[in-house]
Amino acid sequence: MEMKTEKASRIRVVVAGAAGRMGRQVLAAVSREPDMELVGGVDVREGRVPIDAERTDGFLEVTRDLVSSLTRLRPDVMVDFTHPAAVMENVRTALGMGVRCVVGTTGLGAQDIDEIDRLCHRNGIGAVVAPNFAIGAVLMMKFAEMASRYFHAAEIIELHHDRKIDAPSGTAIKTAQGMARVDRARAEAAAGGEEPLARGESVGGVRIHSVRLPGLVAHQEVLFGGPGQVLTIRHDSISRESFMPGVMLAIRRVMDLDHAVFGLEHLLDL
Ligand code: NAP
Repeated sequence: MEMKTEKASRIRVVVAGAAGRMGRQVLAAVSREPDMELVGGVDVREGRVPIDAERTDGFLEVTRDLVSSLTRLRPDVMVDFTHPAAVMENVRTALGMGVRCVVGTTGLGAQDIDEIDRLCHRNGIGAVVAPNFAIGAVLMMKFAEMASRYFHAAEIIELHHDRKIDAPSGTAIKTAQGMARVDRARAEAAAGGEEPLARGESVGGVRIHSVRLPGLVAHQEVLFGGPGQVLTIRHDSISRESFMPGVMLAIRRVMDLDHAVFGLEHLLDL
């Protein structure tokens, strides 16, 4: 009897982008969580995908059609790690069908964020959208905000694998925006200034330099300069496993939300 109650309360999860690098990690992570049930996967690349690279016995039949998957599988949560061009359509579909969303796909703009917010309110369910699910990266952003109160000159170097589509990274933009909130003087001083092209993209007065190379995963340095000193805050995601504790946390927490949350930091006690 007890077993049955436990099973009934497991969170049913569908993964969009299930054949991708992040999607496969999510399949494995969800399948290992006792309070979650991996019920399906969707990807433009259909076919059998191994659920867990460390085991040989489990495969997931990944299909293309999100609407029919959601109708048939009735998940509680859709996790999306797809493509900037695909994510909004997936989120509209899922929220419209009463399925909560955990979105890791990057490259969303302010209009997309507003739309997700509206869709959550309209449907009375939650979503978590986070450009970085690595808890260490969220702490890096927090520490950068703290340092920004004392150092008024700062630049960001973000380094990612060469197949990353968007630049600068969502994490770098978010870091710079957080720093600009704390140090408004720097943001205002930069607002009217010239933009030399070879000096990276300026977000809120913080220049972001994007490096794309094979061999890298996701790395970021925030450098602060002051008279006679330099402070460097660095975070490295060495493997995609680094994102999984944050994704699992978001899946659990989104079940209790009736609105959209943007950023993992809002789910942590910082
Ligand atoms: P990836 O390996 O290319 O995986 C994306 C998968 O989604 C691919 O299999 C892709 O197929 C598929 N796809 C594209 N359009 C789709 C659609 N409409 N419906 C379903 N599946 C679709 O990329 P990745 O490295 O896993 O990264 C995915 C996203 O997550 C990127 O935006 C990346 O920046 C982001 N990311 C976020 C975090 C975070 O912590 N928030 C961490 C790492 C990565 P095709 O290859 O055939 O297009």
